[in-house]
Order: sequence, then C-alpha cells, then structure tokens
Amino acid sequence: MPILSTLLVLGGTGEARRVAGALVTTPGLRVVSSLAGRVKAPSLPPGEVRIGGFGGTAGLAQWLRDNRVDAVVDATHPFAARITAHAVRACATTATPLLVLSRPGWTAGPGDLWHWVRTPTEAAELLPDLGRRVFLTTGRQDLAAFADLDLWFLVRAVDPPEPPVPRHAEVLLARGPFTVDGERDLLEQHRIDVLVTKDSGGIMTAAKLMAARDARIPVVVQRRPPLPTGPGVELVATVEDTVAWVRDRLEV
Ligand code: NAP
Repeated sequence: MPILSTLLVLGGTGEARRVAGALVTTPGLRVVSSLAGRVKAPSLPPGEVRIGGFGGTAGLAQWLRDNRVDAVVDATHPFAARITAHAVRACATTATPLLVLSRPGWTAGPGDLWHWVRTPTEAAELLPDLGRRVFLTTGRQDLAAFADLDLWFLVRAVDPPEPPVPRHAEVLLARGPFTVDGERDLLEQHRIDVLVTKDSGGIMTAAKLMAARDARIPVVVQRRPPLPTGPGVELVATVEDTVAWVRDRLEV
C-alpha cells in the first residue's frame, strides 16, 4: 500500500515506544521515531528511527517539510522542554498538527516526606538540612549543581556522567524499570538518608518513591517545566489517547 500519511514521533521515552508500536503496522502510515542520540545504546522503538538533533526550530521545520510530515506527536520526557518548544514553533510555522503527550506527574501520599524545588540549585541548597548520604536520580545532566557539596552521593544514570560531578560519589549505571524491593535494597546497602528526583511521573522509576516512603526518607522533588500552551497545541496524558488522536487526525 502506498504511504498516505507520515507521522513523526519525538521520543526517548517508554510512552513514545508504545505509540510507535501501536501505529507502526497501520496500512498507509509511515511512522518515524526520533531520538536525540544522547544515550549510547538507546532502547529503540519498533519501526523507522532517526537519531540526532534537527538543528533547532528551523531544522525541525525543514525536516517536516522535506518528509511531508502530516502530524507530530511530542512524546519526549517531561523535562525535555527545549525540543518541545521547538516542536511547538516548527509545527506552527509549517501548519503541522501537534499533539503533546505528557504523562501525569507524581503526587505525594500519606507518609511521604517530599520537598518540592524548582531547580537543581535549589535542591542542592536544601540537601545539607535533610541528610548526609544522597541517592541522586536526576540523570547525567545538572550534576554540576551538586559538585561542591560535602555530602556523599549515589548517582544513578544510564551512561557515565561527565564532570563536574559530586566530589564524593559512587556512580551506578542502570536503566529502569526498577522494583520496590530493588530500590529498598539500594537504600539500605548505601545507608541513604535522602533521595533527589525529578517529577518524571510514570511507573518506570516510581519504585524509589515507595521505597523512600517505607524507609521514612525525605525526598527532594524537582518541579516540571511548564507545559507548552498556545493555539494549535493539543495535550493528552496517555498512550491510548495519543493513538486515538493520530487515527482521528490522519484517518488511518
Ligand atoms: P532537550 O533539552 O529538550 O533538547 C535538547 C536538544 O536535543 C534539542 O534542542 C534537540 O536538538 C535535541 N533533541 C531532544 N530530543 C530529541 C528527539 N526526540 N529527537 C531529536 N532531537 C532531539 O532534551 P533533553 O532533556 O536533553 O532530552 C534528550 C532526549 O532524552 C529527549 O528525547 C527525551 O525524551 C529523552 N529523555 C530526557 C530525560 C530528561 O530528564 N531530560 C529523561 C529521559 C529521557 P536540535 O535543537 O538540534 O534539534
């Protein structure tokens, strides 16, 4: 069957892989998933994949034109705000429908000891009041904010971080999903007394929050950047709603 429509999925998340997986066999639909190329051995979505930046808003707009893209799904991580802003502008310029898939953030429950911060710097300022042995799960970026603290860090990341990193640190290379038992063991083994996380949401990395609650360990949670707004920006929270939107928009 000839290609009738082309969909670009901005990815790098489990949700993006599921969206691609649900749509990739749709007759007449070309689904291209895009990854930034940050991770050395990324989890690849099913189907066609391109890897690497587009070259800003203008580069993305050009790519949409060159590939005759009919719709864009931005299923990037809630903290990947730059590519989302580029998608909003590039889609507006090229009159391409855009759907942003933003999974819900986490909410504290009974027994949680959460401290909300806006930035890694705020997290670093707060940490000495909360503990001495920190489980830092905010990824490889933004470690510089913690570099000068006189605390011990267990830094978990997918790939080895580049300096500057905390002075007293052990790096644990791992990729989710994680289990509550596994997270509980990590907290105990390393005598962790405070956890730092972004409000990533989703189930892949939520187990650490339950383990911290059980151990009565405080958690520093970095707030998300604001969601994009404006004419033409549509938002959903689930993979199912995303797939339904694509089918409806592209009539596939
Ligand atoms: P970002 O700050 O929003 O984007 C930085 C630049 O990376 C963008 O300007 C773009 O380069 C390129 N880029 C980002 N996502 C891309 C994609 N899906 N396809 C092609 N180019 C992309 O992004 P980030 O926070 O560095 O995250 C990079 C990727 O990792 C994202 O795809 C995201 O879904 C995934 N991820 C991020 C986090 C996180 O905590 N930030 C966590 C898990 C996964 P050009 O300007 O050259 O186009």
